[in-house]
Amino acid sequence: MNFKNLSFTELQEYLKEQNIPVYRGRQIFNWLYQKKAFSWDEMTDLPKELRRRFIDLNVGINSLRLVSRIRDNDGTEKYLFELEDQSKIESVYLPESDRNTVCFSTQVGCGMGCLFCATGRNGIVRNLTVGVIIDQILNISKLTGTQITNIVAMGQGEPLLNYESLMKTLRILNDPKGLGLGARRITISTCGIIPGVLKLAEADLQVNLAISLHAADNQLRDHLMPINKKYPLEKLLEACDHYIAKTNRRVTFEYALIDGINDRKEDLQRLIKLLTGKLCHVNLIPFNPIPDTNFRRSNPKTIAEFAAGLNSAHIETTVRKERGSALTAACGQLQSKG
Ligand code: SF4
Repeated sequence: MNFKNLSFTELQEYLKEQNIPVYRGRQIFNWLYQKKAFSWDEMTDLPKELRRRFIDLNVGINSLRLVSRIRDNDGTEKYLFELEDQSKIESVYLPESDRNTVCFSTQVGCGMGCLFCATGRNGIVRNLTVGVIIDQILNISKLTGTQITNIVAMGQGEPLLNYESLMKTLRILNDPKGLGLGARRITISTCGIIPGVLKLAEADLQVNLAISLHAADNQLRDHLMPINKKYPLEKLLEACDHYIAKTNRRVTFEYALIDGINDRKEDLQRLIKLLTGKLCHVNLIPFNPIPDTNFRRSNPKTIAEFAAGLNSAHIETTVRKERGSALTAACGQLQSKG
């Protein structure tokens, strides 16, 4: 049993079953989420006997052990955490002047096998629990001594293949009694799991949706991202249209520019054709090289031309600022090696 796997209501139900006054639930939530307590000793307004009882009941309140923490010159930090079963996951902290973002993992490994991604190389091990996802954010908040203002499900794993745990996590973090994190400060990034996108369109929590696109035709996308064979571009874009119509929210399309692979003039034209008229934003990412591939980053001139081409076709586009690549904490580079 780990209290961070429970919503506020579930925690109250548990306390009721144990004949513990339910008002203790509010105190416990406050300690876990507002004060970031990681030990029972810290919870000084809970009676000692009660804390002892939770220890006897083997109730956990932290599911991660910090293995390493490395910091880049720009302030980006990469964290390697160990889980109870000794598997390892990575999370990244990105401080900026107006926000502190945590990029968190949702699975141990990933089964999607994207060709340009280090995480996908060893396949999927398993989904992460609610408590483990939450603990990445709370541990980093505690360790950095900062309030986390934004979170992105863009670390290891495909978030929409761990949908139930992910959404429960986000509801707890969104709960004012939890972290009180606004839905607009939460982003889910997917490689294009259509059933997940459709479920998200109906969800009670309106978070931001980002699609890792990286190619604008099926042949190239099949090659770069094997999931495209199951959920091809035209169907994925249809699902995005449905999401936009249902939520009236724009979708972000992530496009990592790889030299000579997806940054050619015809790629730009295909992308313009695909996205014209959509309520969307394109995030161009200078590709972060990973070992044992021939993929290289597009040159700065090509990146600028790609961005200009999209913008002049009235597709709002930004080039992502590079963060953390010196410590292999950038997108697609996480692989739990520490
Ligand atoms: S890019 Fe994302 S979906 Fe693809 S293999 Fe890597 S972690 Fe998985």
